[in-house]
Amino acid sequence: MHAVPALAAPDPNSPLTLTTVDRRELGPHDVLIRIEYAGICHSDIHTVRGDWGLKRYPLVPGHEIAGIVTSVGTAVKTRTVGDRVGVGCLVNSCRVCAACVGGQEQHCDNAVGTYGSLDRDGTITQGGYSRYIVVTEAFTVLIPETLGLDEAAPLLCAGITTFSPLRRWGAGPGQKVAVVGLGGLGHIAVKIARAMGSEVTVLSQSLKKQEDGLRVGADHYYATNDEATFAVLEGRFDLIINTVSAVIDLNAYLRLLSTRGAMICVGAPGEPLAVNVFSLLGGSKILAGSAIGGIPETQEMLDFCAQHNIGAEVEVISADKVNEAYERVLASDVRYRFVIDAATIG
Ligand code: NAP
Ligand code: ZN
Repeated sequence: MHAVPALAAPDPNSPLTLTTVDRRELGPHDVLIRIEYAGICHSDIHTVRGDWGLKRYPLVPGHEIAGIVTSVGTAVKTRTVGDRVGVGCLVNSCRVCAACVGGQEQHCDNAVGTYGSLDRDGTITQGGYSRYIVVTEAFTVLIPETLGLDEAAPLLCAGITTFSPLRRWGAGPGQKVAVVGLGGLGHIAVKIARAMGSEVTVLSQSLKKQEDGLRVGADHYYATNDEATFAVLEGRFDLIINTVSAVIDLNAYLRLLSTRGAMICVGAPGEPLAVNVFSLLGGSKILAGSAIGGIPETQEMLDFCAQHNIGAEVEVISADKVNEAYERVLASDVRYRFVIDAATIG
């Protein structure tokens, strides 16, 4: 065991504080990663604050991890010291079920989340707001050389969570895609949807971020606090990706879909969202969800992002700013992902 510096939530209501966390000795298939950057995902905040139910505390969040391999176990074959690697929301799974064999490890019944999850050795996992992490090589991905580690870190969750449904639901040339919410996930969704060749519209609460939305690749930008938006855009979109962390009126957005269009929810508020079934019947519309993505698809996403020069727009912060950053994310005041410089932890 090695104690390494980390930022932990002591309970759901207190600020994160500096502490240490134990990392296991390297097993034969493990790699030790020196974390360089850790993104702050809104899911970290939902989890810490108990929006999705209580976890065990102290809890070290962080599932957007980018770093360098500094040591490898005796049987490691695919990674070497010095590799630039990423770790996302998963650190293990059973490897033999249909989901795992199909590269959909996020749907494995025994998937191990990067933090707050029961690990295969009986301990509770602790995440990436930390200096080092030990992960089995199969749950690391390679970060292409052309991507900076800071701008790559958020791709490990925000990137794959938006890439996966855009791919699955056919974003591409001739498709009109709307992205609801221009936050961490939203701004990357815009970049990826644009790179896939679709016509992209941002639906944000206000016009405050219009310039940024267009700069990162949107063709159009509308404010949802303007009632006219919902009239003007009725029937417009083939695909809507909802990244909003709070409850929204799904029925209003479903009216913006074209016939047989699909609205995919990736935003995950703790409270239920009400759907009038008639919002789906007329036009035979689809309402679906999507959870992160599997390991092979995460590598595919990183390679796609490198090829299209897509990184997150990041505000790099030091460890002492993490609680302030949480408040700014909650106030929709993030442009567009806070990333912790892990060297400042400790
Ligand atoms: P974020 O950076 O806070 O972005 C969320 C955006 O939603 C905000 O920037 C804001 O955009 C909009 N928004 C917030 N409150 C709103 C409200 N009351 N009404 C309307 N719009 C509102 O969060 P994120 O890190 O992108 O995460 C977004 C959500 O996705 C979270 O719920 C997170 O847990 C979830 N998530 C899910 C998965 C998955 O696998 N499905 C993976 C990662 C994250 P505007 O200011 O532009 O309106
Ligand atoms: Zn996340």
